[in-house]
Amino acid sequence: MDEAERFYKRMKLIITVDTERDNEWKRPDSTSLENIKFLQRFQDLCQKYGFKPTYLLTYEVASDPQSVKILKAYQEKLQAEIGAHLHPWTSPPFEQERSWEDKVHRFPHELSDKELRDKMAVLTQTIIDNFGIRPKSFRAGRWGFDARVARELIRQNYIVDCSVTPKISWQKTKGDPQGQGGPDYRFFRAQPYFVSPQDINEVGHSALLEVPMTILFTGLFKKENNFLHNIILRWPESFVKKVVNRLFFRLKWLRIFPNSKPSDFKRIYKAAKKNSLPVLEFMIHSSELMPGGSPYAKDEEQVDKIYHNLEAMLAYFKKQGVKGTTLSEFYYDFK
Ligand SMILES: [Zn+2]
Repeated sequence: MDEAERFYKRMKLIITVDTERDNEWKRPDSTSLENIKFLQRFQDLCQKYGFKPTYLLTYEVASDPQSVKILKAYQEKLQAEIGAHLHPWTSPPFEQERSWEDKVHRFPHELSDKELRDKMAVLTQTIIDNFGIRPKSFRAGRWGFDARVARELIRQNYIVDCSVTPKISWQKTKGDPQGQGGPDYRFFRAQPYFVSPQDINEVGHSALLEVPMTILFTGLFKKENNFLHNIILRWPESFVKKVVNRLFFRLKWLRIFPNSKPSDFKRIYKAAKKNSLPVLEFMIHSSELMPGGSPYAKDEEQVDKIYHNLEAMLAYFKKQGVKGTTLSEFYYDFK
């Protein structure tokens, strides 16, 4: 067995948690952080199966003493990694009127050079001050990432980004009313890669590793870059496309949605194996773990359902020999 083979033999799992205020989807007027108090159950479950979450913190969480206390305890015991998550609309300094920013939710890649630099610097320094470590991992709010954001991350000593959602286009999602919408990641690779600072869809020699969100075709054509994938990815959204996808393609995110089933995780694992992916990347918002904290879990029963799926997923991956890692641990492994 050569080195590459040995590497792929042991698939890794990265659990990312976008750690942010309650009910971000409702565009709340106030910054309530009740959901952070609900994280213990999640942390305990990950530890039970030997997995180690990466909490990606927005400014409001990184600057809140009570939230810091909770998360710092995990980080100090080396049971979690702390990274950064930029929501420009809650992250100072505010060049535009703060209430305007909170209303429109600009993507990070829509900020001016100065806004991007300053917001990233304040977020990073807040984490350094309150956690005593420099964050190394990053995810852009609303997946709003491009080459300019990548260059700024490199400048501010980040080593790993996880903002790419392969096969998904956010172009119809508006940020700045004057802007072009979100990024189009439809033809991005599912494998981790060092990004080119000129074009984030190109492999390059920068210091920044991209570990994309795990989104795979789990149906009949599991192998990446099948010519039929190109056709369905270019096909405009419609009812017929939905039916064709459900029957043949089965595009799945490594997420838990209200209609997720334990068998979805098996399908994703099989598709990842077929493509020799060295890593799976799961994501959840911290607020999804609190009853009423997100549209995904309105009450306790729905939170319990999330935990039911989560436990089924972790138990299954563990049984397959998948090993837990964090974003920056994976970087050092991959390098
Ligand atoms: Zn977010």
